[in-house]
Amino acid sequence: MKVPLLDLKGQYQTIKKEVDEAVQKVIDSQYFIMGPDVAKLEEEICNYLNCQFAVGVSSGTDALLLALMALDIEPGDEVIVPTYSFFATAGVVARLNAKPVFVDIDPVSFNIDTTQIEKKITSKTKAIIPVHLYGQSADMSPIMQIARKYSLFVIEDAAQAIGTQYKDGRFVGTIGDIGCFSFFPSKNLGGFGDGGIVTTNNPNLAHKMKIMRVHGMEPKYYHKVIGGNFRLDSIQAAVLRVKLPHLDKWSDKRRKNSALYTKYLMEAGLANEEGRTIFDDNNKVLLPKALYKPNEEQIKNGLLKNYHIYNQFVIRVDKRDELLEYLKKKDIGCEVYYPVPFHRQECFAYLDCKDVDYPHSNFAAKHSIALPIYPELTDEQIKYVVDTIAKFMK
Ligand SMILES: *Cc1c(COP(=O)(O)O)cnc(C)c1O
Repeated sequence: MKVPLLDLKGQYQTIKKEVDEAVQKVIDSQYFIMGPDVAKLEEEICNYLNCQFAVGVSSGTDALLLALMALDIEPGDEVIVPTYSFFATAGVVARLNAKPVFVDIDPVSFNIDTTQIEKKITSKTKAIIPVHLYGQSADMSPIMQIARKYSLFVIEDAAQAIGTQYKDGRFVGTIGDIGCFSFFPSKNLGGFGDGGIVTTNNPNLAHKMKIMRVHGMEPKYYHKVIGGNFRLDSIQAAVLRVKLPHLDKWSDKRRKNSALYTKYLMEAGLANEEGRTIFDDNNKVLLPKALYKPNEEQIKNGLLKNYHIYNQFVIRVDKRDELLEYLKKKDIGCEVYYPVPFHRQECFAYLDCKDVDYPHSNFAAKHSIALPIYPELTDEQIKYVVDTIAKFMK
């Protein structure tokens, strides 16, 4: 049996007619840059996330960069980020000659350890970028409290978490000052190329990001501020508008798939509890855990459906690299997110980080492996993946 890491062709087949029509409409109009679909997508994302403003941009990375630029992050400013994330989270900070300051992760959620933030704050700290990694919300309450106490901005890196809700029901990306999303094809809401969006409830920031998206231009050829070309293509917006109404159903299927993995891995005797952080004879596989599940009232009211959207389903095993090889040989797609945390990256050697300060990120980097979790996955495929892991463990 073949189980790819992702099956975008399968998803496309289910919406092909609608997507093709939407793209053809853009082609017929020859209105490729900032056409009407971009404005409509922004409106629809605002409705979906229950926020006031959204500005479509060229990628998730550019969303983060634009957010920092709009908040006037300057050379020498410090920005706190988790050390364990996709490179863009820290890269954008360094690109502005600001200093990324790394914080270890919580070993269960893989998200920034909020108890470690405060001691990293200095007089130069301007912002915190929590990442909602793998589709689960970072613990936003303590982050917002710290940010208020020290007057820091909060930019949410929600690239992997569109539609995810924090435990109080609010959508991630609408809790801090600015939310940043990616439409990279492998995200839960993926375009046919690069794309992203920023969200905010602050009208001034929304306006600033809107003009900075087009070189800070307003009116045409008059530049109050310096921005860049951060525009979203009409074709991407058209595709994303077709996909958005399907998003909740897809995320729901990812949750179901994760529950199946958990069930089968437990039945195989490879784990007996979610969210464990140390290996033992009953837990040769460390299972991820959704930390915020809806309470009774939230279930009744449907208030916290997307408590986790499983952009990735990441387990940890002792002999990770060997398992990776083994699964690949058996035609199972899997991937390591992320083998090298920021504090160990060559490009950040100048920051002189102490490796011992980041034990949980180092552990995750060494032991994590992401299994296929995409919505079109079948029950049999999941069973096959687990059976194959069980064989390897013997
Ligand atoms: C994908 C991703 C990004 C960057 O998005 P692009 O659209 O690829 O530029 C940023 N942060 C995280 C956590 C991501 O997963």
